[in-house]
Amino acid sequence: DKDEFRILLLENISQGAVDAFKHQGFQVDHFTKAWSEDELVQNIGQYHAIGIRSKTKITQRVIKAASKLVAIGCFCIGTNQVDLDSAARAGIPVFNSPFSNSRSVAELVMSELIALSRQLLDRAREMKEGLWNKTSKNCWEVRGKTLGIIGYGHIGSQLSVLAEAFGLRVLFYDILNIMPLGSARQMPTLQALLRESDYVTLHVPEDPDTINMISTEQIAQMKKGSYLINNARGRVVDIPALIQALKDRHLAGAAIDVYPAEPAGNGQPFDDKLNAWASELRSIPNVILTPHIGGSTEEAQRMIGEEVSLALTRYLNLGTSFGSVNFPEVDLRAIDIDQPNQIRLCHVHHNQPGVLRQVNEILSPYNVEKQYSDSKGDIAYLMADISDVSQQDVERLQEKISATSANILTRVLA
Ligand code: NAD
Repeated sequence: DKDEFRILLLENISQGAVDAFKHQGFQVDHFTKAWSEDELVQNIGQYHAIGIRSKTKITQRVIKAASKLVAIGCFCIGTNQVDLDSAARAGIPVFNSPFSNSRSVAELVMSELIALSRQLLDRAREMKEGLWNKTSKNCWEVRGKTLGIIGYGHIGSQLSVLAEAFGLRVLFYDILNIMPLGSARQMPTLQALLRESDYVTLHVPEDPDTINMISTEQIAQMKKGSYLINNARGRVVDIPALIQALKDRHLAGAAIDVYPAEPAGNGQPFDDKLNAWASELRSIPNVILTPHIGGSTEEAQRMIGEEVSLALTRYLNLGTSFGSVNFPEVDLRAIDIDQPNQIRLCHVHHNQPGVLRQVNEILSPYNVEKQYSDSKGDIAYLMADISDVSQQDVERLQEKISATSANILTRVLA
């Protein structure tokens, strides 16, 4: 029953998310702070779902103590704070919100394009220091210039639309063939993009192919007097190579939001102990350094709350695992579970031979309307909509499926 379903929300998760769960009829316990591992181990046993941000660590020990837990929601982008493998092995999907801040990043890039072109931060800093320094030398409009976007995913494509509205010509490079938005043009190679762009901005994930994808060789292929912007991940740009190009005046400026090493929290120094080149980079004119704020807006926070609470609610109510990071993604067309004798079986099991035969033998007296299963690594997830199941049979069915050899977690939504 939903009113027996208890959700634990930690780290001051948005009121919108709390209201959304209450509206669904769930019991919600809402706390502002992160919990320690010991606090979690002591209390997690009474909860069916948990919502956290980045500070609460869900370790293997916590998962072992979480006897009723069926889902974890990370109300943030990253999921490193959760032991994803242990959660999957316990049949617990983990949801996050990877794309809710795409627009915020794209808007920040727009502001950086103009700020770099007009040397805005240097002029603003001089004024704050009491110095009047009016100049138009090497200050440009962005209109009519060429923006090269590397990585045309959620952020890159959003940026493409905004940049065209400002009169920029947009080129992009991506490993996938992607339908260009508006008048944007996909370039066949990274080199072709670098050669033609007045601004180059990175929007790729960090992986073995993208680490240092912009280094001395690539910067040399960029136009003299062009600008480099990195709001993606700290290691996709080789910063010592960038520093050299800025000092040689090959590049006219750069905006950097992400770094190979970042301070653990606010108020901590960004210095040479953290990144050996930090003070050198800080001292170069027309370099905008920001503390990983690309996605940090009130709107993005609100959308994270909406997106993760929706994903959790869909999993709890309908078994839909779409969007989970550690689990096979399974969904079926909407079921009318209010119809008498209709149930949805949600069966998480070890990915091993013979499971479907066992399960379908148990289901054989009933009418299986739809069935779908998928696997990810050692975990598989089967969903089936079944009609003509009497109320008395529901419990028996759940017991029988739960007793199969590969069972991890079985829920019957009726
Ligand atoms: P996405 O997955 O939607 O898009 C990434 C694109 O890069 C995809 O189209 C992919 O095909 C392409 N790609 C992958 N490898 C490539 C390669 N070697 N060469 C060219 N293209 C390649 O991701 P997104 O949501 O647009 O995010 C992009 C980046 O921005 C990520 O690294 C993300 O972590 C980062 N990000 C930063 C902030 C911030 O606060 N600064 C906020 C959100 C996201």
